[in-house]
Amino acid sequence: MSVRVRMAPSPTGLLHVGGVRTFLFNWLFARGRGGECLLRIENTDTSREVAEATAQIERSLRWLGIEWDGETRFQLDGAERCRTEAERLVAEGDAYEDEGAIRIRMPDEGIVAWEDAVKGRIEFPAEQLEDMVIVRSDGRPTYNFANPVDDWVDGITHVIRGDDHVSNTPKQLVVMRALGAEPPTYAHVPNVFGEDGRKLSKRHGAVSIDEFREAGYLAAALMNFLALLGWAPDGETTIMSREELIERFTLDRVGVSPATFDYAKLEWMNGVYLRALDEGAFADEVVRYLGDRGTEWPEDGVRAMAPLVQEKVSRLGEIPAFVGFLFGDVEPDPELLDERILRGAENALAAVDDWSAPEIESALKRLCEELGEKPRTVFGPIRVAVTGSKVSPGLYESLELLGRDASLERVRRGARVAA
Ligand code: GLU
Repeated sequence: MSVRVRMAPSPTGLLHVGGVRTFLFNWLFARGRGGECLLRIENTDTSREVAEATAQIERSLRWLGIEWDGETRFQLDGAERCRTEAERLVAEGDAYEDEGAIRIRMPDEGIVAWEDAVKGRIEFPAEQLEDMVIVRSDGRPTYNFANPVDDWVDGITHVIRGDDHVSNTPKQLVVMRALGAEPPTYAHVPNVFGEDGRKLSKRHGAVSIDEFREAGYLAAALMNFLALLGWAPDGETTIMSREELIERFTLDRVGVSPATFDYAKLEWMNGVYLRALDEGAFADEVVRYLGDRGTEWPEDGVRAMAPLVQEKVSRLGEIPAFVGFLFGDVEPDPELLDERILRGAENALAAVDDWSAPEIESALKRLCEELGEKPRTVFGPIRVAVTGSKVSPGLYESLELLGRDASLERVRRGARVAA
């Protein structure tokens, strides 16, 4: 039998990376087995907020490269079916009416147990389970009824979800059995925590997929990183393409201990992905990223700048501050300028015929000798005058790209300000 899984987000707020990691496991599992992966929104109403959250969830998943099969489904659309099934359970004696609501009978003794594909055997003593309301007196099905009814109706073979749902599982299993359904395989994957051991939240840094996108992470790098939160194919491999992840993902390699979200590792991994792109592909990413951010820098200028920064940034979001001097004016700190050096630089640069990085380099090196100063002493004030910052891409390349007139003008202005 082919596998069928579902990603079942609750439509509340922005899509959280911890939840997306769990969706990614579902998707990798399905794609690696020629199976299907559904998207089912677990909504309790049909407000405008739900519609917006759904659109946002779909956008985030698509950006990351996770697609789903068929139309997006909604839990609430199954409410009528839930009521019909509840009535059947009443007729069959597995449920009963109680002050207008319908309750399902839990077993009185013994255990409710399942073989969890991640956690192994899990048992709950039946005496801990109270008869549960499955349809409220106003006709609305409860969550722990709607969820297994949907899984049954949708033909779900594997429920891969966060381990905060372990305590719901015995109730959902009882529902499954009363329905006469073959329960799916449950796989409860560990939660994602921050480095302080607490559930990952805003206070640790970015948490929604949108924020990671805006910060300039590549979707492929983020996918690779998320896949390794609680799963590893072996002890070593870290960098894996989407195809490799699909091929290698198995539930038995998902760990039981909580996964830690290591922001520094993601930063490193993103840098590895950025540097691995060929020059054209990197420039495409930069153009797309800056376009999304509404930066109105001319595309040819952006493409010319891209090679200067490819080795220097680990996130595309670092680029605007890093190379903003090429596309707009700067305000250097007068304290960091030096009149003598900048006057010298103005003369040296004015004499450069062929405005190219190598020629600029020889002119500035000669200047160091003439002034009897170390390059560091000479280049510092020039860099500040031209880029407005102590850190920038390579100085010669920056001057070349900025162009002769603008460069000379900034050096001249720097000398004036320093005087
Ligand atoms: N909607 C639930 C959540 O957001 C998922 C429940 C499930 O996968 O069964 O955690």
